[in-house]
Formats: sequence, C-alpha cells, structure tokens
Amino acid sequence: MSESAPLAPGLYLVATPIGNLEDITLRALRVLRSCDRIACEDTRQTQKLLNHFGIETRTVSYHLHNEQSRAEELIADLRNGARIAVVSDAGTPGIADPGVEVVQAAIAAGISVYPIPGASAALSALIASGLDTEQFTFRGFLPSKSGERKSLLEIVKTEMSNGHRATQIFYETPHRIADALADIEAIFSASHRITLARELTKLHEEFLRGTVVSVRAEIEKREAVRGEMVLLLSGDLDASTQNASEKQSIADEIRSLMERDHLDEKEALKRVAKNRSLGKSEVYREWQRSKR
Ligand code: SAM
Repeated sequence: MSESAPLAPGLYLVATPIGNLEDITLRALRVLRSCDRIACEDTRQTQKLLNHFGIETRTVSYHLHNEQSRAEELIADLRNGARIAVVSDAGTPGIADPGVEVVQAAIAAGISVYPIPGASAALSALIASGLDTEQFTFRGFLPSKSGERKSLLEIVKTEMSNGHRATQIFYETPHRIADALADIEAIFSASHRITLARELTKLHEEFLRGTVVSVRAEIEKREAVRGEMVLLLSGDLDASTQNASEKQSIADEIRSLMERDHLDEKEALKRVAKNRSLGKSEVYREWQRSKR
C-alpha cells in the first residue's frame, strides 16, 4: 500500500493508542480517514479519537455481543469492494478484544486482511518489564475465580519446571490484583520475580518491578490501586521452587488436582499427562502404583 494510492478494498485491523494519543500512526490515520466504515467496539469511545483527529468516517458498532451477526454484514459489504477498518476501544484489535470472527470470515471469503500495527499493552509492558523478552507467552486476563486462577498458575509453574522458560504476560484489573498476587506467591514463591505495569503511556505510568512479596507490599500500602495494568511473571523459577516442583510426584499432583481443584480422577490424569507432556497410560500406571 503506497502512501498516496487510494485504499485498496479489504479489511483493515487498525491499532489505536492505549493512552497517549500521539501513539497513533500516520498510516492508521490515513486508513481511518479514507475507509468506507469503521467498525468499533464502542462507537462513543472511538468517536472521541476520531474527533481529536478531525476524522469524519462513518462508524458502526462491532462488539462481543454482536460479533457474529455484524461480521456477516461486514463481509457482505467487503464482498462488494468496501474498505472497512476494525478498531477496539484501545490498542490492537483481536488481542483480548473483538476482531477474530471478522478476520476469519474475511479470510474464508477470500477478502484481503491488512494489519495496521501500533500500540499494544502486552508488548509495551513486556519490553520495559526488565524480564526476558526472547520467549514470552501472552495469556490474556487471569481467570476471575480463585480456583481457576490457581489451576492456571499451577499449569504455568509445571511448564516452567519442565523447562519452558517464557515470560508470562497477563492482563489484570485493579480490583483483582491483590488476590492474584497472593495466589502467585502461594503457588510460585515469595521471591518469584514479577513486573506490574500500570497506566502505560499515560500521565501516571508506573512499573513495579521486583519479587512478588515486594510488589504485594507496595500495593497493600496504597489506599487504592487504580488504572489499567499488565502483570508479567519471570519464566525462571527460583531454585527452591524448581526443586520442590521436581520432587512433587505424579501421584501428588493428581491428588492435589482432585482435592484442591475438585477434578474427577479422569480429568486429573488427563491434566497431569498434559502438564508433564507424558502419555495418559504412563500417568495412569504411575497413579495405580502409588495406590499399592
Ligand atoms: N487490545 C488491547 C491491547 O492491544 O492491548 C487490550 C484490550 S483488553 C480488553 C484491556 C486490558 O489491557 C486492560 O484491562 C489492561 O489489562 C490492558 N491495558 C490496556 N491499556 C493499558 C494501559 N495503558 N496500561 C496498562 N494496561 C493496559
């Protein structure tokens, strides 16, 4: 797509700022200005951005609750040669935000899909976190229920103890952050390294970097924790956690999944086989042996 050529027909996934309005790209502005329609997660939210840049393109809502039906309408227009931009409230569409349905439908219909890259909270947090950036896993929002959150964290810890040392990136909310940190301390250790990135690109941008216990202490000192946040976990287990994890037998892990997470025996066996990259029959044999 050259700078002066008219916009080609197709679907444009346009990243928008996550705070600082200067983080919009020249290309994003040109696409938003010249496309036929902008499909927005929240039209009122996007209208503020469009007003700021003097863009008058028509908007239409495209959110979680009408994603499927709206995708069909958008595809019908795209088949007739429309140029449609998709934006979310902030950041990169499709990343913990709507976008996937229409992309898949467009690809299936043979329509061109153009990424227009820009701000993303996950990557912005990662690059300034001080944690390893060579390998990372983006996991979206941590589950809101403590049981599910702990199960996921157990899976992550098992992966790490099996040598998958990727930095873990989670989106988190202010009202859950204290509980999430407590669960991380319980499942990993007080000295596991983390970074909490708050209010990225905004006036009160802040990085809390350190051990879980030090970040928890900082958070608990405050009257309220506000703003948007990304939570990152180092992919390196500390030596004592690594040793303890290695020592946990297959049978212990099955028992803990059944008792703590209320999985039935079959589900627990399946989970352990997956966590440890073992065959189900091998795990089953080990489980039977432990009962003798
Ligand atoms: N699609 C977006 C992106 O590319 O980053 C993410 C959308 S998701 C619904 C919103 C979550 O992203 C927030 O709850 C927060 O965890 C994170 N987030 C968005 N903006 C942020 C910011 N400025 N600072 C820190 N976290 C942010």
